Amino acid sequence: MNTYLQDSRLDKLTLFSGDSIEVDILRTDLIHPVVSGNKWFKLRYYLEEAIALKKERIVSFGGAYSNHIVATAFAAREAGLKSMGIIRGEKAEHLSHTLVHAASYGMELVFVERSAYRNKQAIMEQYNLPGSYWVNEGGYGKTGARGAAEMLDFPQHNEYTHILCATGTGTMMAGLIKAAQKHQEVIGISVLKNHFSLETEVKSLLEEPEIVKKYSFIHDYHFGGYAKHPEMLINFMKDIWEYWQVPTDIVYTSKLLFGVKDLISKNYFPPGSRLLVIHSGGLQGNLSLPLNTLPF
Ligand SMILES: *Cc1c(COP(=O)(O)O)cnc(C)c1O
Repeated sequence: MNTYLQDSRLDKLTLFSGDSIEVDILRTDLIHPVVSGNKWFKLRYYLEEAIALKKERIVSFGGAYSNHIVATAFAAREAGLKSMGIIRGEKAEHLSHTLVHAASYGMELVFVERSAYRNKQAIMEQYNLPGSYWVNEGGYGKTGARGAAEMLDFPQHNEYTHILCATGTGTMMAGLIKAAQKHQEVIGISVLKNHFSLETEVKSLLEEPEIVKKYSFIHDYHFGGYAKHPEMLINFMKDIWEYWQVPTDIVYTSKLLFGVKDLISKNYFPPGSRLLVIHSGGLQGNLSLPLNTLPF
């Protein structure tokens, strides 16, 4: 079994399941309080490649609350590499918890004003120090998907009929599709509003034999857009905590679980379905909320 998975756990969400549907949740958030979940898996082979190429520094992109940035900082340090984060937007007077953590793991932060941030090519030319290994924003890419596939590296995963995850770049989803069996369907719940290009972005991470596997996308649970978290979502997160002691984050996993619950109530899944829901971590993002917004 994958070493990171040892710290994960399968929990059952019994309240979601009617008579005929079972729901298990894979708690990869338990891996580490800050650097939790899918980012570990996605970064793994990028780091390996950087080391094999004798690079000395990982460089990547992200916003001030990015799970990917803080995970990159930590994972690079663990691998004995330096790290640099290209951060979207001007430097704020008070740095976010995410950036404070990233800096504490030794990441050098470079702030790039929003319009310039869009031109990744120009940034890569400007900051291309010798020995740099660049990782796409969000860890998007085939190398990331290969690592994410290992999230299903446990024998019971074959027993499920559906595997559900939240999607940002879709890299984790592509990995899950790679690892899924032919009888299983992977469902991605997008947390971005109208992110319809996701389907081609995921497809381009798959190899020929994987493209015929069963997978689908749902765009109905973004709650207004990326990182938007109306009161209703916060209340749902409190309920989830109260019933199952499962902490969720405002960007990804709360929307995923809301979607799963809603789809079950609409009889989306045939009777007898066994769902595996991926808790992909990201809890550090909740530190952006006012103190005591959440009970966990
Ligand atoms: C980054 C992240 C995702 C999205 O992963 P992608 O591979 O970009 O789709 C989902 N959940 C959490 C908690 C994340 O931090």
